[in-house]
Amino acid sequence: MPDYDAAYAQLDWEVFRSWLDYFPGGGLNIAHEAIDRHVAHGRGSHEALRWIRKSGEVQRYSYADLKTETDRFANLLVNLGLGKGARVFSMLGRVPELYIAALGTLKAGGVFCPLYSAFGPEPVRARMTIGEADVLVTNAQTYTRKIAAYRADIPSLKHVLLTQDGTDTIPGTIDLKAALAETPAQFELVQTAPEDMALLHFTSGTTGRPKGAVHVHEAVVAHHATGRIALDLRPYDTYWCTADPGWVTGTSYGIIAPLTVGATMVVDEAEFEANRWYDTLEREKVTVWYTAPTAIRLLMKAGAELPRTRDLSSLRFMASVGEPLNPEAVTWSHAVFGKPFHDNWWQTETGGIMIANYASMDVKPGSMGKPLPGVAAGILEVSETGTGVIDKPMAVGHLALRRGWPSIFRSYLNEEKRFAACFRDGWYLSGDLAMRDVDGYFWFVGRADDVIKSAGHLIGPFEVESALIEHPAVAEAAVIGIPDERAGEVVKAFVTLHAGQAGSDALAKELLGHARKLLGAAIAPRQIEIVDDLPRTRSGKIMRRLLKARELGLPEGDISTLETPA
Ligand code: ATP
Ligand code: MG
Repeated sequence: MPDYDAAYAQLDWEVFRSWLDYFPGGGLNIAHEAIDRHVAHGRGSHEALRWIRKSGEVQRYSYADLKTETDRFANLLVNLGLGKGARVFSMLGRVPELYIAALGTLKAGGVFCPLYSAFGPEPVRARMTIGEADVLVTNAQTYTRKIAAYRADIPSLKHVLLTQDGTDTIPGTIDLKAALAETPAQFELVQTAPEDMALLHFTSGTTGRPKGAVHVHEAVVAHHATGRIALDLRPYDTYWCTADPGWVTGTSYGIIAPLTVGATMVVDEAEFEANRWYDTLEREKVTVWYTAPTAIRLLMKAGAELPRTRDLSSLRFMASVGEPLNPEAVTWSHAVFGKPFHDNWWQTETGGIMIANYASMDVKPGSMGKPLPGVAAGILEVSETGTGVIDKPMAVGHLALRRGWPSIFRSYLNEEKRFAACFRDGWYLSGDLAMRDVDGYFWFVGRADDVIKSAGHLIGPFEVESALIEHPAVAEAAVIGIPDERAGEVVKAFVTLHAGQAGSDALAKELLGHARKLLGAAIAPRQIEIVDDLPRTRSGKIMRRLLKARELGLPEGDISTLETPA
């Protein structure tokens, strides 16, 4: 996309639909667009998946290999008496079976629902119950430790497929590898329709109880278009998405988008480790890299010396999602990689990227960028009586999107009212507050739930946190509002420090002064607490509501997605 304005004027969802193959007669299947069509078009030998084991050993799958494996998986489901509409849940790390199960399920017309492999027993049980799981794909250890005890309590759950060799001795389970080996690789792909349910994703649980967002096959139109336009993906790219498979990004951009484009995906089984990440970027010659602010802040924390010794010249495009990307992180990436991270914004509910910094556009550090061609975004005033678009530049309002893009969620599972409440006057209300500047760039202010009201000011946590992070001692910051008799609420900040920095009252005082200088007394925190770590979700988002509940001695609420040491 060489020119944003021209593209915004010319491109729409009809054009994006024409970028896919579809079936004759208008059927659409995500897995066909992701795998089979490349094989049909003569790109079967192109490398689709490069899997790096924890040990460092590499295993490669071509598009043709993935076709064979996913055909087998689809056949296996059918042989088990399941097919269209079957709900297949996964609790897997970054292993090839994840990709095979996800796409094989879609081929059979089933619904794929990935869960975090690190979930404890209760969150898994709750989700499999709400989602009426038919099948669970996981490993033996997870099954025996977390699921076997209550399996009988989930009547819908018919089959458990285990990924390791020789696990057929565990009663009531199927050894996936052995079963696949015995299953024919010829499969007639189920002719799903664009509106058939395909994916079930639970939200991150940052603001409360996670919601089950339902997506359909038509979402692939958005996955593919945004892969090309927002992530700048091309068929010969080597692409690395670091998202956990249990998070929506792990599916939309960790599986579907790169494969529909025909790129090569690098998948690292191991968890974050700064040295290993730089090694991977260099050795695999990653060209497009999609990660999250929490990882970027960890890399910043690890220091600028590590990347200096590496040749990272293959990197062409770097993008970030999940939380606001602090301007400091953009500045840092310029210094370290010679190019900026491109922030983009979307939600589980939107199914794909909606607002982004595009390769051809200048990045304004701290801004989420501009709406995708085909997406109309607005800043709204929302009251009981209706909605109104706020045209004034840099005025805070509700970030909303005009309804009608293909990857919008079709429901929250079993929660009609909650779903209906997201829509007003043809708009989808995101629940986030934002601003738009004169050039049309959008700026994140905060989640509506996290915004602080202090003496008539509306304070977005992001602005305060970004100011704190600019201080050389601060690695991360999270701010909340705490009750105050005079102001209603005042700002309290929690910060973590860079390696080698020691917390002290003097430093806290210095940080208060630093914030006041940058932000002014009305917005700056009144209290700063230096902590070792911040509570975050498994998708890496800071849980401000939990900091607040703990601060005020209130109930902690749903903490099923809280990241806990493994
Ligand atoms: P829950 O809805 O359960 O509280 P969640 O909103 O964190 O969890 P996700 O769908 O994973 O679940 O995240 C979407 C939210 O993440 C957005 O609404 C926004 O608040 C935040 N977000 C995502 N990308 C960005 C970004 N680039 N800048 C700022 N915020 C972002
Ligand atoms: Mg949300």
